[in-house]
Amino acid sequence: MKACAFDYARPKDVSEALKLLGEGGKAAAGTQSLGPMLNLRVIQPPLLVDLRFIPELKDVSGKSEYTMLGACVTHAQIEDGRVPDPTGGFMREVASNIAYRAVRNRGTIGGSLVHADPAADWPSALTLLGATALIAGPGGRREVGLERFITGLFEVDLKENELLVAVRIPKRSKAARFGYWKFCRKAGEFPQAIGGALTDPERKESRTVVGALGGAPRLFLDLNPDVSSLGKDAYDKQLHAVALKRAVEKLK
Ligand SMILES: Cc1cc2nc3c(=O)[nH]c(=O)nc-3n(C[C@H](O)[C@H](O)[C@H](O)COP(=O)(O)OP(=O)(O)OC[C@H]3O[C@@H](n4cnc5c(N)ncnc54)[C@H](O)[C@@H]3O)c2cc1C
Repeated sequence: MKACAFDYARPKDVSEALKLLGEGGKAAAGTQSLGPMLNLRVIQPPLLVDLRFIPELKDVSGKSEYTMLGACVTHAQIEDGRVPDPTGGFMREVASNIAYRAVRNRGTIGGSLVHADPAADWPSALTLLGATALIAGPGGRREVGLERFITGLFEVDLKENELLVAVRIPKRSKAARFGYWKFCRKAGEFPQAIGGALTDPERKESRTVVGALGGAPRLFLDLNPDVSSLGKDAYDKQLHAVALKRAVEKLK
């Protein structure tokens, strides 16, 4: 099956994009998830609003306390170190294990977060990092912490006439360590279970995340949470518990 006919627009800035979304347009970034949804006719928007040519959405900036990545930064840019990695390599590692290179060349960090596939990597990894979603809408701008931005299965706190503009990722101290583990049946496939862990002894901070749960990732503020109840059945529970255990082991 092919997509229904749609119009195509290439706005030059966020305000033009917001106007088009307000008129019923659908945001398009790397189209790695949108393309299949269009072809399966799960969605039939009258207009695609291509975000990839809006400079602000590709902006990258950093202050001493955080790094900000525009929503249209691709997985490949992160993998290749073409944008700053506030985690000293952890984000590069996560990016480089998303799908395969053709998907990473086009797929964006913002598209991944808004799509909110429970098995996707950035929703879990950025929840672990305590990132914040920066959102623009017709009424102005707002910010939402990722643990509240992702509200469920393919569900986020974003209205149809709003755009995710950027993600702000806090920097940790040089002593911080990060661990990530995922179980995939085949290389390049969406994972069945995700575990993530971070510790920053200088800031007395410990965080863990369990992802690919069929809904929003679960965040914990310690390194040994009881995750025995997370998962559909005994096998799934074991897989998630082991993913987390292995992520924590990587901190050593
Ligand atoms: C074969 C295959 C394997 C994959 N495997 C993995 C994997 O292992 N791990 C993983 O994490 N991901 C995986 N992905 C997903 C991929 O990495 C992309 O991140 C994901 O498809 C969405 O990013 P995108 O930029 O392509 O967004 P799009 O497909 O363009 O958009 C997705 C959704 O987000 C909306 N949207 C996009 N950007 C914005 C924005 N800035 N503001 C508001 N709304 C927006 C769109 O309207 C749409 O609803 C895989 C994809 C494919 C095709």
